[in-house]
Order: sequence, then structure tokens, then C-alpha cells
Amino acid sequence: MFIAHVPSGYILSVSLLERILHAPASTSAIFWAGMTGALVPDFDLAYFYLVDHRHTHHHKYFTHWPMFWLLLLTVAMLWLRFDSKSRVALLSWIFCLGCTLHVILDSFVGDIWWFAPFINKPFALFTVQAVFQPWWLNFIWHWSFAVEAGICLWAGLLYRRRSPMNKSMKT
Ligand SMILES: [Zn+2]
Repeated sequence: MFIAHVPSGYILSVSLLERILHAPASTSAIFWAGMTGALVPDFDLAYFYLVDHRHTHHHKYFTHWPMFWLLLLTVAMLWLRFDSKSRVALLSWIFCLGCTLHVILDSFVGDIWWFAPFINKPFALFTVQAVFQPWWLNFIWHWSFAVEAGICLWAGLLYRRRSPMNKSMKT
């Protein structure tokens, strides 16, 4: 997934805000946790290009292992369960939700090692054929890019719906 990670984090944050009553964190902190989490696994691209020199698919790094994020998500959830007033626990849980959402969305048309580190086998819901050069054009011209555009549009509509409220908020 290329362009829809941050918008998906925005949608996640809005849906959580609509469900969490009396959150021990500000609205803006919840947005930052959700949107940053939805992007953070791709920070491993810096290691991929600068250190690993593209030797290993970056989805093989632990930063793209669903089990890693699900483990942290479980820890954050337990923390929040025992200390429901904790701001850090809530934001950690939302951050981990964003990271988990990232790897789920990556698995749409990209290989994700769902059972790493135990099973070395990638899974993808759909496969993008290598037809064009450079490689990223294959994703841009694939039908799945319409789904990405749809997520961006959905986030844009949500933002527009919330914007009068945003202007009046002091958080
Ligand atoms: Zn990714």
C-alpha cells in the first residue's frame, strides 16, 4: 500500500473517538497515535535503503511482522484494562492498532509474513503482476490502487465532516 496508510490511520482515529467516552487523552493526541502508528512500520525503509542496501524484502523485517504488532497490541490492551485512566496506555494501544492496521493493509496486494518468525512464508490477498518499469507503476496501474484512492476519499470526507468541529476545538 502506498498512499492510504496515513488516511487509514485517520479513519481509525475517528472511529475510535466516536466510540471512546471520556478518553484520558486529547483528541489531537489520539489522532497522532493512530496516524503515526498507521505509518510507522514503513520507517524500516530507511534501514532497507541505507543499511541493508535492498538485500532483504522490508516486509521480512520484524517491523512488518503481524505477530510482533499483535503481541504489542495485546500488552497495550492488558495495560489499558488494568489502568483505564492511563493516557500512555490508551495512546500505546491506539498506536499499536495503527501498526496492526498497516500490516493488514499491506497484505492486500503485498507479501506479508503473517506467521513470522515461526513460518517463513508470505501471504497476500491479491498479486500484482510485474508488467511495468519502474516497479511502483505496477501498483499504480493495478485495480487495487482504486481501493487506496477510496480510502483516501473516505478519510477526506470524514475530515470535511469533522472540520467545523476541528475549528472550534482547543485540544
Ligand atoms: Zn508497509
